[in-house]
Amino acid sequence: MRCPRCGTHNPEGKIVCRKCGARLRPSRVASSLVTRETEAELARRLRYDLVRVAVTFGVVAVVGVLLGVFVIR
Ligand SMILES: [Zn+2]
Repeated sequence: MRCPRCGTHNPEGKIVCRKCGARLRPSRVASSLVTRETEAELARRLRYDLVRVAVTFGVVAVVGVLLGVFVIR
């Protein structure tokens, strides 16, 4: 595989040029970047869901305690 920047021939499978360090597979790098962004988005969404579940449980617990107090009175 030839380096797009300096033209040096690199062994097949190499990601960066052995001479100048330029990336030889930009599309693969871009796709892995997209995958990483998607994973970060999923982690963020999962964290948001956990917070929402925790808040929901907290509200239910508070309402339950208040209802219990009113029922006892
Ligand atoms: Zn190069």
